[in-house]
Amino acid sequence: TQFTDLGLAEPLLRALKEEGYETPTPIQARAIPALLEGRDILGIAQTGTGKTAAFALPILNRLLANPVRLQPKTARVLVMAPTRELAAQIADSFRAYGRFAKISVAVVVGGVPHGGQIRALSRGLDVLVATPGRLLDHVESGHCRLDHTEVVVLDEADHMLDLGFVVPIRKIISKLAMRRQSLFFSATMPKEIATLAGEMLRDPVKVEV
Ligand code: AMP
Repeated sequence: TQFTDLGLAEPLLRALKEEGYETPTPIQARAIPALLEGRDILGIAQTGTGKTAAFALPILNRLLANPVRLQPKTARVLVMAPTRELAAQIADSFRAYGRFAKISVAVVVGGVPHGGQIRALSRGLDVLVATPGRLLDHVESGHCRLDHTEVVVLDEADHMLDLGFVVPIRKIISKLAMRRQSLFFSATMPKEIATLAGEMLRDPVKVEV
């Protein structure tokens, strides 16, 4: 399989060409078709397998295929990551693969002032990449709404558990619309993580690499 066989929109194929990617990695080859069909996914994969592109490309494809007016204080896509560093990397990947698509991406993480994040949220976003604690602050203070979010991604779920993020994640998930696409990635599947995945996903495709 080549990227050109997967049914991705032309601006994404152009960005992949500039990145120098030709062949999808195994997780990409399996996850991208399922995600383009709108399925939920349970991905058991480590960093380095190409999992970021495995979710970013079909999500960008969905944004391109269904342009809508952005709603203030919300994002069409929410990606939750355990650390600031990972959140920044994921946002950079969306910007790189989306460079020929007009998409807005912002990062909301702890340890930095709230003001700039509140401004970024106020106009509405295509993609918000966040750590759970700070995101929940913005939700509880009324600066972020989650009821219009179409796609949610939980990355490195087992690492989230280690950092004590399961409670804020459950609160965030409870505020999402029932009608959404959900993506869940973890390198390992301890019982608590399997339970969380079961609560979040609807009839998921399981991809283990
Ligand atoms: P990740 O597992 O998402 O952290 O990605 C690992 C690394 O592989 C990143 O540096 C990506 O830029 C790179 N990468 C992802 N997909 C591909 C691909 N299909 N071909 C070549 N490199 C890739």
